[in-house]
Amino acid sequence: MRLPRFRYYAPRSVAEALKIKSDSGPEGAFVAGGTDLYPNMKRRQQTPKVVVGLSRIASLRKLRSGSDGVSLGAGLLLSRVENDARIRRDYPGLAHAIAEISTPPLRNMGTLGGNLLLDTRCNYYDQNYEWRQAIDFCMKKDGEICWVAPGSPKCLAVQSADSVPIRIALQARAVLASREGEREIAVEDLDRNDGIAYTTKGPDELLTEVRLPKPDGWRGSYRKLRRRGSFDFPVLSVGAALRREGESVAEARLVLGGVASAPLRLTRSEELLRGRPLDERAIAEAGEAAAGPSRPMDNTDFSFLWRKLMTAKFVEKALRDLA
Ligand SMILES: Cc1cc2nc3c(=O)[nH]c(=O)nc-3n(C[C@H](O)[C@H](O)[C@H](O)COP(=O)(O)OP(=O)(O)OC[C@H]3O[C@@H](n4cnc5c(N)ncnc54)[C@H](O)[C@@H]3O)c2cc1C
Ligand code: SF4
Repeated sequence: MRLPRFRYYAPRSVAEALKIKSDSGPEGAFVAGGTDLYPNMKRRQQTPKVVVGLSRIASLRKLRSGSDGVSLGAGLLLSRVENDARIRRDYPGLAHAIAEISTPPLRNMGTLGGNLLLDTRCNYYDQNYEWRQAIDFCMKKDGEICWVAPGSPKCLAVQSADSVPIRIALQARAVLASREGEREIAVEDLDRNDGIAYTTKGPDELLTEVRLPKPDGWRGSYRKLRRRGSFDFPVLSVGAALRREGESVAEARLVLGGVASAPLRLTRSEELLRGRPLDERAIAEAGEAAAGPSRPMDNTDFSFLWRKLMTAKFVEKALRDLA
């Protein structure tokens, strides 16, 4: 599979990148490590005529820590974040989630920002052009129908980025820059439960930074279901974060990935944990309450019924890591 022809720009500042992207209109795309965009272009899922490379913008690769937490440039390599001493000490759940992404060579190419904005995935979409043509394409690209749920008015492709559920659990915030200025939103508000329009980021907005609040007693963990022990996208994942007061859970945030087009907060399980010690009984109840809202579709690896059944188990595993 070959890349289609495109014009490549390598700006050295955010302002320059924003100008090129906005001048190129809907024909333009940002690229960071390219580990998602370029395979998608080879499969003709995305066909930008202008590609704006971000790897020469030094300000996107800064990692700063201060009294209020840590600021991570969107262009930081995954391997850089995974191996940072402060991230490993204060946000071990995030370091672990990043270490679960694909392989070391890909983590040396892929970036934190690219992972946050990873395209949604589906068995009927992550195929080459000829394969997709043979089934007359689908709603996400070039077609009309959803092969997973033909009656569905929207695409149900799956949120598959490993670092997102734990970033939401840890209350991370995203900084978006555009030619109009900058805005900061919760990472939770960056996702939309729609397989095609899966992000609330505007097409010309550039993700510049991810901010993690200081831990303040919060501890996070991440668990991922995949076929192979080494590299595979998650087909069910759990990001969990807890803050304790004495022996009891004061606050909990539990987020499921890989079961819908956006990560899903498990609010009932969170409520069940509040004010209780994190013992086996509380863990089992929180796991059981997670199975109801988990409604995976039949469009990734493994049977969707089994992925639903595994939800309770994986929530329990993530909580036991924190117990
Ligand atoms: C074989 C293989 C296995 C993989 N396994 C996993 C896995 O297990 N888990 C997982 O989570 N991912 C996996 N990935 C996907 C990918 O490698 C990672 O998600 C990686 O973090 C993507 O980052 P990137 O910088 O390469 O993104 P890119 O490909 O450069 O960009 C991805 C998307 O984000 C946009 N974008 C990137 N940066 C910005 C920015 N700063 N502002 C605005 N838009 C931006 C791009 O326009 C594009 O739409 C895998 C990929 C491959 C090829
Ligand atoms: S969920 Fe449906 S529309 Fe979306 S990629 Fe899969 S088959 Fe296509």
